[in-house]
Amino acid sequence: MKKFELMALPYAVDALEPVISKQTLEFHHGKHLAGYVNNLNGLLEGSPLAELPLEEIVCKATGGILNNAGQILNHNLYFGQFTGEPTKSAPTGKLAEAIARDFGSFEAFKEAFQKGGATLFGSGWVWLSADKDGKLVITQEPNAANPVQKGLKPLLTFDVWEHAYYLDYQNRRPDHLAALWQIIDWNVIAKRL
Ligand code: MN
Repeated sequence: MKKFELMALPYAVDALEPVISKQTLEFHHGKHLAGYVNNLNGLLEGSPLAELPLEEIVCKATGGILNNAGQILNHNLYFGQFTGEPTKSAPTGKLAEAIARDFGSFEAFKEAFQKGGATLFGSGWVWLSADKDGKLVITQEPNAANPVQKGLKPLLTFDVWEHAYYLDYQNRRPDHLAALWQIIDWNVIAKRL
């Protein structure tokens, strides 16, 4: 059967410092995400879902398979959207136009997105997604949920599980969220749209 593999980080493990420390990245990618991959591969043994692509598993599974598959999809998008050497500090082109159209301005979007992350109770993720008509929406998803379960196309996400920031920011989740804009690779986000 197919085995899911731990994604390779597209940057060095210390490249996102000081926004995300090497220690946080080593635990978050090397322990937490690796754990979800190992768990899912074990749970899929003998399951009819085993041959499906990850996004389809997230839309069809329940229980432990859903939780672990969801966390892999979420983290692959999360780790894949960062860079230690951003070439732009804000989106450009069609993505910038869509953000201005649907949120008023990039600053207003950032404020609403950070608020979504800061006010999410417990563990989960705040997402920017596009709906079927291309309209951009911000959603809060609990635990391992992903916007693909609602028919949305996920573009950008901040992980607000404590394991994402506690070593570096302790209880200061809003400070962590405010700092993440410094390491977003807007070229990656534009390609997802
Ligand atoms: Mn995480």
